[in-house]
Amino acid sequence: MSHPARQKCIESVARRPVPEPCPAHPAADAAYAEDVFTRDAMRKYLPKDTCRKILATIDNGEPLDASVAGDVAHAMRKWATDRGATHYTHWFLPLNGSTAEKHDAFLELKDGRPIQSFSGKNLIVGEPDASSFPSGGLRSTFEARGYTAWDPTSPAFVKRHGNGATLCIPTAFCSYTGEALDKKTPLLRATQALTNATRRLMRCFGARPDGHVTVSLGLEQEYFLVDKSFYLRRPDLVQTGRTLFGAPSAKHQQLEDHYFGSIKPRILEFMTDVERELWRLGIPAKTRHNEVAPAQFELAPVFEDINLACDHNMLVMEVLRTAADRHGLVCLLHEKPFAGVNGSGKHNNWSLSYDGRNLLDPGSDPRQNAIFLTVLVAVIAAVDRRADLLRGTVASAGNDHRLGANEAPPAILSIYLGGQLAEIVSQLECGRAGRSSRQAVPLKIGVDVLPALPKDTTDRNRTSPFAFTGNKFEFRAPGSSFSCAGPNTALCTAVAEAFDGIAAELETAPAGQLNDVLQGILRRLVKTHKRVLFNGDGYTAGWAEEAARRGLPNIPSTPEALEALSKPAHIALFERYGVMNAREMESRHGIGLDDYRRKIDIEGRCALEMATSMIVPAVRREFTDALDALQRTAAVSCTAGTAALRAECETLGTGLDTLQTRTDALAAALDRGDSAAVLSAMTALRETADALESLVDDDRWPLPKYREMLFVY
Ligand code: ADP
Ligand code: MG
Repeated sequence: MSHPARQKCIESVARRPVPEPCPAHPAADAAYAEDVFTRDAMRKYLPKDTCRKILATIDNGEPLDASVAGDVAHAMRKWATDRGATHYTHWFLPLNGSTAEKHDAFLELKDGRPIQSFSGKNLIVGEPDASSFPSGGLRSTFEARGYTAWDPTSPAFVKRHGNGATLCIPTAFCSYTGEALDKKTPLLRATQALTNATRRLMRCFGARPDGHVTVSLGLEQEYFLVDKSFYLRRPDLVQTGRTLFGAPSAKHQQLEDHYFGSIKPRILEFMTDVERELWRLGIPAKTRHNEVAPAQFELAPVFEDINLACDHNMLVMEVLRTAADRHGLVCLLHEKPFAGVNGSGKHNNWSLSYDGRNLLDPGSDPRQNAIFLTVLVAVIAAVDRRADLLRGTVASAGNDHRLGANEAPPAILSIYLGGQLAEIVSQLECGRAGRSSRQAVPLKIGVDVLPALPKDTTDRNRTSPFAFTGNKFEFRAPGSSFSCAGPNTALCTAVAEAFDGIAAELETAPAGQLNDVLQGILRRLVKTHKRVLFNGDGYTAGWAEEAARRGLPNIPSTPEALEALSKPAHIALFERYGVMNAREMESRHGIGLDDYRRKIDIEGRCALEMATSMIVPAVRREFTDALDALQRTAAVSCTAGTAALRAECETLGTGLDTLQTRTDALAAALDRGDSAAVLSAMTALRETADALESLVDDDRWPLPKYREMLFVY
């Protein structure tokens, strides 16, 4: 028997009712995007002329004709109320990294009678009293008004709950001075910058001047599931999203038997529920599987337009959480909920198309190859130039446990190309002059055809933070709880800069010499930026040393990583492209730091309370029991067992003393507000507590153990 409370949790899992056999469900595509104000819905609910105008705004970014807003609002409300919606909300991505919504009923009173109303003005702008959202100094509370502005490129949707529904209108959130108070606005600006730069570059290759640029993103989402009964008995999970104590279980992920294993029925039912809900929301959930750590899983949708993909990922996280709750589970999106097993990330699969053609697809003819190589080298240059900026956008207290912990990409940003492509890039460098250190044959741009590149998934280096995977780049450093808007804002802007640099030179190329000029540019860029290329194992100490020799930044923790947001060179870049101004960047730096400090402070306080009110009492009772037993042996002059009891008393007593000194140290660090000291005091305290966990009678240990949380579900 274990501790009665833990025993109850285990029994509740064991006694879960056997679910009814699954009823036949309608085909998934019947309900697909049922709750989205799609083009089809627009055609059905809007006058023809209005529909044409709104689609022009969505497709070509034409400014929305204010006169049609009323019609659109009316149609949207009608469509939403047909789906049971009673309220609407401007749905936005504040800087705290979550989503925000303030609901208003469609209800209005006219001469005392209720009517349903939703005006064009209500659709286009909202004024949430947003004084409590972090603004990093962009908006002081006395002038707290911010406003939300409709983003017509991300369709409105209806979000259902148990007994009702709400119309959600994706919006940007800005201050009255026009500064972005959210994560969407800079992403939209960066995508625009990249769109302009892509058109400019493609013009150099003789492409249609105003072609359609699509930046695509597929976000793989990792998460953990634990039974709710265990979760509720772990104050650390409830308060901080991760376990602050817990000895490793004998079996964890050594056997690698969880990854891609058959999915347990209870989990599969949860996943099915999640997918059905996502499909209704027009989110193309595609892949589901067990991940490496026990109780860890992944969901990946089909890639979409970058803005939509980022919005959709926020909804994916919300649906995962709410669906888990219905299944008696809790979905943990923290980057490192359990020590000693893998943490969770979000793989950011990114590509770029022009008039429907993926520019990261090598293609089969020399002209396509030239474009492919140019885009490839531009991304390499962008990542190398702006490595610390990219690192800064994935910095958080949670992600610090992942990056550099030999399970996720290291804190050093490098690019993996795979053997064959790396060879091609090195051939580019040796160029026509043929000054290759290897035996490589120079590659002639616009003339030579590239060999077919493998898209095989087995050829991927899982230790690389930024990997070329066939026809896209995969940035693997974002944390599982992140909004990916931030990292992609930086990535798109950095690539825009690299495109513009190349285009500026190509534009001056004498007629007929484009390929020669390009060859020279790419050779120079490869020479300058090849230091960021690394095909080896990113987890080795040797790589850290090698990276240091190459001058690559290796930034292990959040406070240093965030400094990139205040670096003049990066501010100048963002200002040049109109993505963010210095104040907007500073605000993000400040918010990131505050968030980091507050989270660590909360963790420290939670650990302190758990240690003093749960762990110390359990150890003390164990110690007293052992002392009692020892005393009784003396009373009856029994020598057998005294050696063992004495040793146990020593160990437990010493453990209590150490707990005392380490809780004192943690309390002192918390008083000083010193995050680094709090972190190391928590680590020390945890070490003692975890060692005692296996010594204290199982009946007495109040906290659900790793072997339970990770395996009993
Ligand atoms: P894994 O890395 O797990 O092997 P996949 O190759 O299945 O994953 O793809 C992962 C994600 O990449 C999916 O969301 C998928 O839609 C997305 N993806 C595939 N092709 C592209 C592309 N050209 N651009 C952006 N994302 C893509
Ligand atoms: Mg992946």
